[in-house]
Amino acid sequence: ATPTAILVGTGIGAERGLLIKGGDVLEKVHQLDAIVFDKTGTLTVGHPTVTDCIPLTQISPQRLLQWAATVESGTNHPLALAILEAAQTQNLPLLKADNFYTEAGRGVRAMVEGESVLLGNEDWLKEQGIRVEGTDPLTDVSKTLVYLAVDGELQGLLALKDNLRPDAQETVTRLQERGLEVILVTGDRLSVAQAIAQQLGITQVFAQVRPQQKASLIEHLQHGNSKTLPSSHTPPRKVAMIGDGINDAPALAQADLGISLQGATEVALETADIVLMGTRLLDVVQAIDLSLATFYKIR
Ligand code: ADP
Ligand code: MG
Repeated sequence: ATPTAILVGTGIGAERGLLIKGGDVLEKVHQLDAIVFDKTGTLTVGHPTVTDCIPLTQISPQRLLQWAATVESGTNHPLALAILEAAQTQNLPLLKADNFYTEAGRGVRAMVEGESVLLGNEDWLKEQGIRVEGTDPLTDVSKTLVYLAVDGELQGLLALKDNLRPDAQETVTRLQERGLEVILVTGDRLSVAQAIAQQLGITQVFAQVRPQQKASLIEHLQHGNSKTLPSSHTPPRKVAMIGDGINDAPALAQADLGISLQGATEVALETADIVLMGTRLLDVVQAIDLSLATFYKIR
């Protein structure tokens, strides 16, 4: 396409609510083979709610929630906001705390009233030497679980549920219709990822993936590395990544094309080549179609 065509394409992009950063971006779009979606805040709305508060010791559910909200008060992750909201609804004041620490894509930690409180996913707690196995009393495998430990002892867990974006299904279907391989990646547990993938017709799922591993996954897809990818058919690919979190930034940078959305964390917005300015996930299809129009019509 001519430079003029690209300018026109970028301009039309702006009209359609796409922020396209740079003249070579649209050209990359039409070369794509695969698009990798983050789950939380990308395929889902990113406004989860706390559905269960389950103590595993003698403590009350209120105490559990109060601890959880207190350690989360240092962050703005979607799970943190949900937990803070739940505590507020029950009129539970935050406890006195300091030394807040966030491990992106894994959990949070703080000193609360002199005790070390840890809240995060199963893997992360296990790594800190906390026994978590066999403690999930819930039957709904589509819920996200976070575990809370105080001074090295598991105290309980919280379950949270998020909803799919209303246009997630249509977005995935349209991308697949355009010949793109659609892949789901998340730091959440496998059963939650599978439940969502199944609803959306996504067959390739990577769960419990840490931020740096999200970037490695993109790299393996790009190189067609069959050692790490489950499929035997692994050609090299041009890969787009779409995500919203701090934990997605390394993958957004590694991808041939990074896409982020309104409401995403600043570092994700900065790293992305395309930002969807509205709240419609479906705008990602607009970007593909715009690129096709720009690069096929004018030759
Ligand atoms: P996704 O990759 O789907 O966007 P994240 O990488 O943000 O999800 O989080 C992955 C998992 O890490 C969550 O499901 C949760 O178990 C844990 N986690 C991440 N951030 C937090 C937090 N602030 N508080 C508790 N757990 C967290
Ligand atoms: Mg996310």
